[in-house]
Amino acid sequence: MNTAFGYIRRSSYKQLENNSVELQKARIKEFAERKGLIVPDEFIFIEDATSAFSKRASQRKELMRLKHRMLESNIPHVIFSEISRMDRTAYTFVQDFYLPLSKHMPDLAVYTTDADHPWDPSDPKVQLALLLFRQESEIKSERALGCLMSDLENETVKRPGSAIPYGYDQKNKQLVPNCAADVVTFIFFLHSWGISINKIASTLNEAAIPSPNGGTWRTSTIENILKNPAYTGQIVWEVRKGKKKDTYTFDHSHEALVDRFLLHLIDTNLKLQKEYGRLETPFLFLNKLVCQQCHSALETQNGSTKRNGKKYVYQDYVCKGCGYKLEMNEVHSSLLPRVLRHVQDMTVSEQVKERTVQYLATVEQALEEAISNCESDLDKLDRKGCIAREQNDREFAFLVMDEQKRVLHLKSSYEHSQDVLADLHEAIQSDMFFTRFDHLLESQLDNAETRLIVLYFVDEIQVAPQRPAQIIFQENPLQHLVASPNG
Ligand SMILES: [Zn+2]
Repeated sequence: MNTAFGYIRRSSYKQLENNSVELQKARIKEFAERKGLIVPDEFIFIEDATSAFSKRASQRKELMRLKHRMLESNIPHVIFSEISRMDRTAYTFVQDFYLPLSKHMPDLAVYTTDADHPWDPSDPKVQLALLLFRQESEIKSERALGCLMSDLENETVKRPGSAIPYGYDQKNKQLVPNCAADVVTFIFFLHSWGISINKIASTLNEAAIPSPNGGTWRTSTIENILKNPAYTGQIVWEVRKGKKKDTYTFDHSHEALVDRFLLHLIDTNLKLQKEYGRLETPFLFLNKLVCQQCHSALETQNGSTKRNGKKYVYQDYVCKGCGYKLEMNEVHSSLLPRVLRHVQDMTVSEQVKERTVQYLATVEQALEEAISNCESDLDKLDRKGCIAREQNDREFAFLVMDEQKRVLHLKSSYEHSQDVLADLHEAIQSDMFFTRFDHLLESQLDNAETRLIVLYFVDEIQVAPQRPAQIIFQENPLQHLVASPNG
């Protein structure tokens, strides 16, 4: 009979301590017997719950001692009681425990008492389980990525929508940009400037550029291109686990046609439209004008009449409270040059650039704090969850799980903001953001483009009849792009 090691996590709940350790021991021994293995008491390592949960594997004393003993004794068998023993830190378990051992022990067999076959981290199912447990930062490890990528390349996992995206050819299973790549970039560029999908489609049709299937462009074609993550160099891997669908995203898997910064602008444009109304309107200052007298927002009025067969259009901004109208074109011709001049001056100013970088740094710091608060909350909840399970208090356990879900969600939204922030930082450093506004004054701007500039840079404009308007500019045009968790 072969000898094996055992690994047990000691309950943090004192009264159940012996019971729990004894139970786990019994489970391990029973399992060993079935496998024709023997586990002497002194071969069983017992870890304290507090360290088994929140710490990465290399910081777990007993686990590392176990690793050394296995190497010394050259005994490659070890039995863990249940997979849950390594759940939250499963990823580090592979990195710090499994892989170093498997290097020296080709016969390494890590069992868990709830599975018949030895645990295998290269099994796609196990990899998925690992991914589920860990947040993105750790998935980014080269090795884990390498494994997953080779799986993708071997096509053991099917990529959804594996049709080759327009703008790319496939060579040796890699996506390579082709001559339509510029069209893709152009579409994203136009949309980031607020140009509607409709208008993009008609622009491409007018230019006689053939659509992906060789015909005319439809709005749905444009929509699908704008939605396809492949264009930022990502591969998205969807995995069904029962009824649940999980999505994993891997960056830089092929050459990007679109900078992620443009996607953030497009997202922001959508957000701004929700808040201030549509971009394609003749009323460029829609929801941005406030009455100096009664402080209410001005409304818009769009009317037309026919006289002697001729059509007359009346377009006005109106204060319903005070009962006055401001003619739209007059408002625009007096305000727009001032706005555009300000934007152009602002975006070439080194001072503004510095201030923007500072702003990003403040947000970054706030995000880091918020994330670390989430992490400490999660650790606390883990401990509460342990206690709940050990006391068999289902109601409490569910409450804890709900709270865990909430905090995890919050944390991942902060992590998303961190990604956005990193992209913005790059866009500022590479001048991608500020050079967007060069030559504004000489350019023929579309209504949507002009309105977008107003929404980015103008906080509000205070107006009244027979009085000069007061324009209040945003302190920071990036405010809309990334919000600080402190508000
Ligand atoms: Zn008023």
